[in-house]
Amino acid sequence: MTKYNIPVQVPVGVSNKHIHLSQAHLEQLFGKGHKLTELKPLYQPGHFACKEVVTIAGPKGIIPNVRVLGPLRSQTQVEISRSDSFALGIKPPLRDSGDLEGSAGCILMGPKGTVVLEEGVIMAARHIHLGVEEAKVLQLKDKDRVNISVGGERGLIFNNVLVRVAQGLRLEFHVDIDEANAGFLASGDYAYITEKSEEKEVSTMSERVIQKI
Ligand SMILES: [Zn+2]
Repeated sequence: MTKYNIPVQVPVGVSNKHIHLSQAHLEQLFGKGHKLTELKPLYQPGHFACKEVVTIAGPKGIIPNVRVLGPLRSQTQVEISRSDSFALGIKPPLRDSGDLEGSAGCILMGPKGTVVLEEGVIMAARHIHLGVEEAKVLQLKDKDRVNISVGGERGLIFNNVLVRVAQGLRLEFHVDIDEANAGFLASGDYAYITEKSEEKEVSTMSERVIQKI
């Protein structure tokens, strides 16, 4: 196990439920020729929150005003927390962003139309983003896992945090709102990378999670 002599400080970004849309679904929900309207930039360069919101519906309930994040993607992806999944009555898998095959479905409602989404709903696996240079310094590569420690009264350790290395991105730790609430975390707080995770921890963890959902 690689342990860092000095824990590496990483800013926290809390992801509330949100949706990434494909061009086709954007037009289906907001009208033909509609373009995303940027509301504010996100911490990661090139990413932004949009003025557009949609309603997500499942067999048990609906969640209105779910923020659309830009830019557009090749496939629509809905990211919700486990609490949200109970409210909607659907069972999304815990997945890395972009890994959507066989994921859950839902209904999306916009001002100009409705989309029946057969798959694309996930609980996003917590992860850190890193630029290529930052990854080199920390001796991490894409798909590694690290353990991240959080201080304070609800201090805890997040094991098996996925490492995502990509050109142009910045060091940031992404958790969903359930995970943030478990540690009293808010966007802009700091957490600390303490070590690389063991492979074994990863498989035990995934099996446990898969059995439960
Ligand atoms: Zn992220």
